[in-house]
Amino acid sequence: MTTAYRLLDWQQPGFSEVTVPEPAAGEVLVRVAGVGLCHSDLLFLDSAPGVLPYDVPFTLGHEIAGWVDEVGESVEDLSPGDAVAVACMSPCGVCRYCRRGADNYCVDNWRGRGFGRDGGLTSHLVVRRRELAPLGTLDPAVAAPLTDAGATSYHAVQRVRPKLQDDSTVVVIGVGGLGAYAVQWLRLQTTARIVAVEARTERVEAARALGAAEVRLAGDGLSRRLREAVGPNGADAVLDFVGTDQTLNAAIRNAATMGSVAIVGQGFGTAQIRWGQLAHDCDVFIPQGATIAELHEVVALAQHRVPTGDLTIEVEQFAFADAPEAYQRLRDGTLAGRAVVLAPT
Ligand code: NAD
Ligand code: ZN
Repeated sequence: MTTAYRLLDWQQPGFSEVTVPEPAAGEVLVRVAGVGLCHSDLLFLDSAPGVLPYDVPFTLGHEIAGWVDEVGESVEDLSPGDAVAVACMSPCGVCRYCRRGADNYCVDNWRGRGFGRDGGLTSHLVVRRRELAPLGTLDPAVAAPLTDAGATSYHAVQRVRPKLQDDSTVVVIGVGGLGAYAVQWLRLQTTARIVAVEARTERVEAARALGAAEVRLAGDGLSRRLREAVGPNGADAVLDFVGTDQTLNAAIRNAATMGSVAIVGQGFGTAQIRWGQLAHDCDVFIPQGATIAELHEVVALAQHRVPTGDLTIEVEQFAFADAPEAYQRLRDGTLAGRAVVLAPT
């Protein structure tokens, strides 16, 4: 037996004993190093019964990395002790989205590890080999947030990259867990000028250090103040990692002709789209997660860019027993980096 931090019933998280699973053929038993806590976990923690399509209980935590503990039959390219990142989802591989390489939209992805299936806030979990990305020398207790915060923001950035030219400006709204990576992927992969928007004054300097040329504080008149920073042509891409009425309206009104607006944040806000409000030929889309191929790209970038200091993985580590406190700090907005809860010892 081992211990896990679980959603025991709706709105009732707690610690509980669970069995250590065994890997079948093609599977790997992973010993967890750390689990990043994501803002979307708060949705799972707060939802009333009947809102989400999952059965409780399940173990929380979808940003998982650790070490190979044991390999099942036919897994020949990994050995005990290898550091691995765990993809959030278990795509089927055969549905119409998997077939076209968009396994982040697999028909099975309505649930994933940590939401509807057992996640990583425990000591061990079993994962199919193809859902693991070897981390090489990266420390899994630091690298765990790459699996969602890193990969989901990477997917959104790849989607808008074709829109970004040498003279482009791109806006990132919300430089927290996901947004901090978005700023960095944009700095590493494009020449666009990055304008960031943040609600917390303590994140302004952090956003600059990560690569933003300018930062605007959220609040009254955001749309107009953002236009001053963006310039009269608007932004060729706006990535909104917040998604409230205010940020969505600022995003839509500041996107350029032929630009893109990505709504990544689950703020459940609304914005009006009509002639004169949204620029001509501008896309608005809601991306979800990242493909397993993109997770491998993110890990490869991190392997090259973390040692040189070009990519920062901001983490604040918590002992396993402090998982509730870590979630509270996420809720309060007092984290300096992604909260990573270390596995029980
Ligand atoms: P986070 O709490 O780490 O970061 C959010 C950041 O936004 C914080 O720095 C906060 O200060 C800032 N912020 C809050 N209100 C703001 C405002 N009005 N204007 C500007 N900045 C503001 O959260 P996170 O884990 O990075 O997640 C961000 C969002 O993305 C959440 O809504 C989460 O549910 C969503 N999410 C979506 C996907 C997806 O696949 N689409 C995946 C993971 C997370
Ligand atoms: Zn599928």
